[in-house]
Amino acid sequence: MSKTGKIPMLDLSVEIEALWDEINAAVQRVLRSGQFIMGPEVEGFEREAAEYLGVRHAVGVNSGTDALVIALRALGIGSGDEVIVPSFTFFATAEAVSLVGATPVFADIDPRTYNVAPERIEERITSRTRAILPVHLFGQAVQMDRIRAIARDNRLVVVEDVAQAFGGEYRGRKLGSIGDAGAFSFFPSKNLGAYGDGGLIATDDDDVAEQARMLRTHGAKKKYHNETIGYNSRLDALQAAILRVKLAHIDEWNEGRRAAARRYGEMLADVSGVETPYEASHIRHVYHQYTVRVRDGGRDAVRERLAEAGVGTMVYYPVPVHLLPVYAASGYELPATEAASGEVLSLPIWPQMARTVQEQVVDSLREALK
Ligand SMILES: *Cc1c(COP(=O)(O)O)cnc(C)c1O
Repeated sequence: MSKTGKIPMLDLSVEIEALWDEINAAVQRVLRSGQFIMGPEVEGFEREAAEYLGVRHAVGVNSGTDALVIALRALGIGSGDEVIVPSFTFFATAEAVSLVGATPVFADIDPRTYNVAPERIEERITSRTRAILPVHLFGQAVQMDRIRAIARDNRLVVVEDVAQAFGGEYRGRKLGSIGDAGAFSFFPSKNLGAYGDGGLIATDDDDVAEQARMLRTHGAKKKYHNETIGYNSRLDALQAAILRVKLAHIDEWNEGRRAAARRYGEMLADVSGVETPYEASHIRHVYHQYTVRVRDGGRDAVRERLAEAGVGTMVYYPVPVHLLPVYAASGYELPATEAASGEVLSLPIWPQMARTVQEQVVDSLREALK
């Protein structure tokens, strides 16, 4: 519990206290070096992240959104192309597709996992489809075998949106290493978070990596020899140095989240009116969010009562992306996505969350459901 007696959605204070000296040393190392853009810290983090993820290349960029944009462009996606995306995700997934000049085509979810459903992807394929952009939502892997088979049969590329799932696995492989490219975000609240913005592209493809490296530095492989219109999108050296400290702890933190999720599952087993998250056996869910479902229209009232009791919760996502103003005119109807957005409720979770704090959340939830 925080000092105010309230339970936040996420408590990063435990982590920073534990790593204070190491983080300070890393920051000072960068300040003393005078190398703030690219350089050894960025290279070091890229090497360590590539090794952790089991990929040939990791390319640091300025944000998760830029990682998606640059990965799509590096794979040659652009104007006239269609990219199949879920609508039950953060706006940036679809926004990145629009930013490269392509059209996001929305597919519905599996209501159990909230992840884009392979059958719904297949229905959306046209002669213009070039890519599938699945999102490992809340830290849970999408069905990558099915998605890869669909991509192979239809000659599509796959870009994984791994913003919420650093360290997550599918059949023993790290998420972000299975598609043609994986796009990660280091937004501070993500499982691996920087102390500012940051992102990363993971790929085994040498050409994609080379294109991504070129695009992040104004389309130049060699300074002042710009070949194409790119971006100013580097991973900040300070953030890279901080991320190197934090990367060493990601497995332990994800295990902490998994343990907290297990405890929630036990505590909520006898609470009627909420459905706990589904977890398939062949994946390693890293619980970026612990999201329950409140049926029968009670979600908003439950959330309000929890807020009155000092328990922070969030709704990810209250408006499906296909119904947001920029995309609403396309007229999609996605029943499973629309139902989920009215029923999901994400409870507080962080790696070091204590059982006693979880008990308070569950007690308050039980009261709120009455
Ligand atoms: C956070 C997030 C992004 C964007 O990452 P930024 O680093 O904030 O740009 C993209 N997709 C999903 C699913 C996210 O959760």
